[in-house]
Amino acid sequence: MSRIAVVLLAGSAFLPGFAAAERVHRYTVDVDADLATLRVDACFSGRAPTMLAVESQEATSAFVEGKTVSPQPRALAPNGMEMSLRGVPENGCIAYSVSLLHARKTRDHSGYANRWTGRDLVTEVGLWFWRPPTLTADEDIEVSFRLPEGFAVSVPWHPLADAAVPTYRVGRGAYNRTSDAAFGRFREIPIDVPGARLRLAVLNGKPAPDVEAMRRWIEDAARSVAAIYGRFPVPEPQVLVLPGAPAPEPTPWAYVLRGGQGSAHFSVNQRRPLREYVEDWTAPHELSHLLLPPTDPNDAWLSEGIASYYQNVTRARSGVLTAEEAWQNIHAGFRRGRKLDTKGLTLAQATQRMYRDNAYMRVYWQGAAIVLAGDVELRALTDGRQSLDTVLDAFGRCCLDPDREWTAREIFQRFDAIAGMPVFVPILDAQIDTPGFPDLTSLYGRLGLEGLGGKVAFRNDAPLARARDAIMAPGPYRTPRALLGAGS
Ligand SMILES: [Zn+2]
Repeated sequence: MSRIAVVLLAGSAFLPGFAAAERVHRYTVDVDADLATLRVDACFSGRAPTMLAVESQEATSAFVEGKTVSPQPRALAPNGMEMSLRGVPENGCIAYSVSLLHARKTRDHSGYANRWTGRDLVTEVGLWFWRPPTLTADEDIEVSFRLPEGFAVSVPWHPLADAAVPTYRVGRGAYNRTSDAAFGRFREIPIDVPGARLRLAVLNGKPAPDVEAMRRWIEDAARSVAAIYGRFPVPEPQVLVLPGAPAPEPTPWAYVLRGGQGSAHFSVNQRRPLREYVEDWTAPHELSHLLLPPTDPNDAWLSEGIASYYQNVTRARSGVLTAEEAWQNIHAGFRRGRKLDTKGLTLAQATQRMYRDNAYMRVYWQGAAIVLAGDVELRALTDGRQSLDTVLDAFGRCCLDPDREWTAREIFQRFDAIAGMPVFVPILDAQIDTPGFPDLTSLYGRLGLEGLGGKVAFRNDAPLARARDAIMAPGPYRTPRALLGAGS
């Protein structure tokens, strides 16, 4: 079936995780106007799977009833996070329903899954999507949604362009990773940037969010990330904006999920003006996570390091920050990371204890220090012909298949293979098992950075002052002045 590989996106050669599926299982999801129940019909192509599995532990309590449809009805019931399909014949069908009331009740101000605005609902796909535990290379799943008039759905799957109702190919990509679906009276907005079409859903809130402002904010951040190497790293990410965050800043809480085509979720305080969103670091940070494939959680320092580094680099290149402000932010980050280094833990230990110790800044900013050191070293060794940007460009062409989880070492080995010289692995080796936050004196000296307490100063006679300036130099995408001057 060539239809699945349809590429409406100039510059993106393929959709990761999509095979030329011979067997396409078809799910139809009926959504009611109260967002109280989902009714799912699933018909399997060829031999039916012996069991179905689900990602959420809440799925069993949300399950209402189910039955096989052919040859004759038989009740289906989940057993934990699995459900036996014994007796379902070739090309057989099942039907089941799932209550969303539970999801609506577990409203969570932190911004995680299951948010009910009184009109729109975000819920884990794993709550209702009972599917084969794995897909073979020749299998895929197509999911169609039958929605009430005026309703929309947002899922991080590949949309089929010519379907009568919203229809998606799930693909094997990140099949077993968490993703969220949104249902409600929003409108999904496509945002085309080089290499990608982001699909934005701004959910309802009180007061109603300015959807056009949110679109301009996300587009600006996506363009600044796409400018790192000329295209956005993943072709069809889902972006969910959830108003009502109880905090003074524009976007106090955000995260990326890797299920499906990947997604970024932003909890926002919709009362803040557009200018504050555009200046904020959160969107370039979250979208920069998509530069890397899913990574071993024990190596979270790398993904957070890349995101923390590029949240400043991209804003400097797009003109949101001056180069001095960007270095000042990075310097402040390193200071925060060092301050949290009270126990003399190694980076590996600190990453493992990050959640327990609440020591995010140590991990994020040592990660950023490693990323900066690698970027600078590569620029120095190649007289500026290579950089972290060029390595990520090549890495993005080979290695973003969401099916695979990488360790930091594997990613750095690939970086060095791309660069054709050992740059990143030696830095990893020097830092990963060394206690404490790294001493950056020598790196600062070479870059011509002087940390004078909380302030960073610049020397232009340093050996790598040019590399330093090249990192933050104006890029091909510049944030429109109108966005920065925008009051609301
Ligand atoms: Zn992050």
